[in-house]
Amino acid sequence: LPVLAVVGRPNVGKSSLVNRFLGRREAVVQDIPGVTRDRVSYDALWNGRKFSVVDTGGWEPDAAGLQQSVAAQAERAMKSADAVLVVIDTTVGATAAEEALARVLRRSKVPVILVANKVDDERLMADAAALWSLGLGEPIPVSALHGRGSGDLLDAVLAALPEAPMDKFGFGGGGPRRVALVGKPNVGKSSLLNKLTGEWRSVVHDVAGTTVDPVDSLVELDGEVWRFVDTAGLRRRVNQASGMEYYASLRTQSALEAAEVAIVLIDSSEPLSEQDQRVISMVADSGRALVLALNKADLVDADRREEITRELERGLNRVPWAQQLNISAETGRGVHRIAPALRTALESWDRRVPTGRLNSWLGELIAATPPPVRGGRQPRVLFATQAANRPPTFVLFTTGFLEAGYRRFIERRLREDFSFTGSPVRVNVRVRE
Ligand code: GDP
Repeated sequence: LPVLAVVGRPNVGKSSLVNRFLGRREAVVQDIPGVTRDRVSYDALWNGRKFSVVDTGGWEPDAAGLQQSVAAQAERAMKSADAVLVVIDTTVGATAAEEALARVLRRSKVPVILVANKVDDERLMADAAALWSLGLGEPIPVSALHGRGSGDLLDAVLAALPEAPMDKFGFGGGGPRRVALVGKPNVGKSSLLNKLTGEWRSVVHDVAGTTVDPVDSLVELDGEVWRFVDTAGLRRRVNQASGMEYYASLRTQSALEAAEVAIVLIDSSEPLSEQDQRVISMVADSGRALVLALNKADLVDADRREEITRELERGLNRVPWAQQLNISAETGRGVHRIAPALRTALESWDRRVPTGRLNSWLGELIAATPPPVRGGRQPRVLFATQAANRPPTFVLFTTGFLEAGYRRFIERRLREDFSFTGSPVRVNVRVRE
């Protein structure tokens, strides 16, 4: 895996930054000046790409002095890493230690990502920009505390790191996209899987023993290989009695956890049931991308289709953003539209809106439709940032509470104006005093 080394003085916020943006799992080692830490390494996954994050550890003036210690850390980082992430506390600025580090790094060929942390406030933007003087390229202003700037930072990290090599099947570094096929019993999941796998199945078998968990199936659709997760129970048609519902829902949960996008199958020859609603809620709560496949279209008379569609629309109002495909797992009708729909949904799910573009959009939106006055005060929306993708998650910084209706309005407009088709979009509000 490509290796990213993180360097910085104690208390610049390395640990919180790494935890927040790079998804560290193990316990955080606190930055205690004077305590030398061992190198810690763990894997991070972002935008389908995996890389190792290495904390190079102690950066304390040792017996040989500060400059020596910094130089040694930089050497270690450069030797072991494909890119170096330098974290600086913007409220403090570049100290002599960081200037020494920059001198070493400027001479090396290793790409450097310069992070101006603790930019919790617009007013610190100028201090962040001052870090240009280190000669390490553009400082990326972030706030590990608020999650601000994570998108730009992660983009810079991925751009600096080499692509992980393709595996022997030619799959990209992140491997095939992971799909959960879910729906209540007898809705046609195994029929659809059988239809989709078709002749590909023999190949799937070969691959299954090597790179893919045997409970998953690799399926080639529309020139691309997809990984259908947790399909072991779907391979055969099992007679699912009603008592199986509990297990069906456990399976749905675990498939969703392993997947990036879900295909929810609905039996369109019947009214939407409570069980369908439960599956849809589970997907909505999971934050995964979603494609709705209205199966058994062959059983629906043409003259009843419109009425059924209307009924479904009402029932599917929890996920109005999902694409709906009429298919028949039995005849194969409409099945070819599944892969393009999955792609659209994942593209939305992965997407990041640059902070500048987001805020100019927000400015116009708010000028046209300001937030409603509450308790005699009009809350101001200060700025927005996309804190995460998968699913796209936005943070609005405001001077007061925003009504749920207005929040939904912003969410809807975000979805429409940036066409996040097939993906949930989350909007969090942070009130600043
Ligand atoms: P699962 O429990 O979701 O895996 O459902 P199955 O794939 O076992 O399908 C349940 C029943 O529905 C079987 O008898 C299938 O033949 C039937 N079925 C599945 N898809 C279709 C379809 O598109 N049209 C029709 N007419 N029947 C289907």
